[in-house]
Amino acid sequence: MKHVQTRKRIVPLLTLAIFVAMILALNRTNLVSAQGPTPTPLPPKPPVPEGFTLIEGDILVRTDLLTGRAPNAVYATNFWTNGIVPYEFDANVTAPNQTAMLQAMGDWENVANVDFRPRNGEGNYAHIQDSTVNSSSVGMQGGGQTINIFNWNSEFIMAHELGHALGLWHEQSRPDRDSFVQIEWDCIQSGESHNFNRHDEAGQYGAYDFDSVMHYGQAAFFTPATPYCATIGRTITVLSPNQAWQTLIGQRTHLSNMDQLTMSFLYPESDWRFVDGAYTGDTENGMFLTPYKQFPPGFTATPFGGTLWVQPGTYSSVGTYNNAVTIRAPLGNVTLQ
Ligand SMILES: [Zn+2]
Repeated sequence: MKHVQTRKRIVPLLTLAIFVAMILALNRTNLVSAQGPTPTPLPPKPPVPEGFTLIEGDILVRTDLLTGRAPNAVYATNFWTNGIVPYEFDANVTAPNQTAMLQAMGDWENVANVDFRPRNGEGNYAHIQDSTVNSSSVGMQGGGQTINIFNWNSEFIMAHELGHALGLWHEQSRPDRDSFVQIEWDCIQSGESHNFNRHDEAGQYGAYDFDSVMHYGQAAFFTPATPYCATIGRTITVLSPNQAWQTLIGQRTHLSNMDQLTMSFLYPESDWRFVDGAYTGDTENGMFLTPYKQFPPGFTATPFGGTLWVQPGTYSSVGTYNNAVTIRAPLGNVTLQ
């Protein structure tokens, strides 16, 4: 009898224990669902760092450099020392997005003497973060500089921003752009005209490159402000005879041939030298931006096995040359006489 009574008491106790365990399990379930199965994503970083102004849609410029200057003033563009770009990812960049960015970095590393390296205490570096916009400064700024990325799924939007960070302006900012494209000023969104300024003293290389990954698309900053605008639907009109490029400008699928060539010259191999008879600067050291004006010193200064790049022109080159070098004329029409 006693034995039976004990059993009777145990059964309700077991039931109670199971009931409590179920409540605990339910509470745990509620707790998990309240917090979410995955960590909450960090909020996007502010697109424009303090002290900077966004120009041309995605270029970060120090505001103090803009003060008191015409909007199309030339900004000093500094290249990264030895082509080495130390970088760090913000904590808000996921591992897959980091991998995607490394792919875009590789696109430039494959064509120029550029090396993106994880930052190891360097004072000048790029801080890459997830943001609501894509933007970058042009060239090395000194200290830490921000690269904002929104389109992590677009390899060549990222390559475009890296192109800025390495020193490239927009292709349609070239001093000679008005010979190739017409800016439809009336069709630009209010307050955004400055995005179409030319950089008249900016460097340029080769023919105007409609295929550049650094070119705007035809509808950048478009608004149908007038019937004419509504009809054409664009802010950039490609001029004759290049109209076939009209819908192709602004591609973000590859680095153009000229993108690759220009970047390789801005960040050249150590045994490359340059000659440009049209160069008018004072300093000549055989580099892309300060090339030799004459062929003989360029040839003589090219290391054994190196490459001498010669710009179009006719050069007086009478002499005896023993150095084994490769001579290249990327734009053709070079005469040595
Ligand atoms: Zn840009």
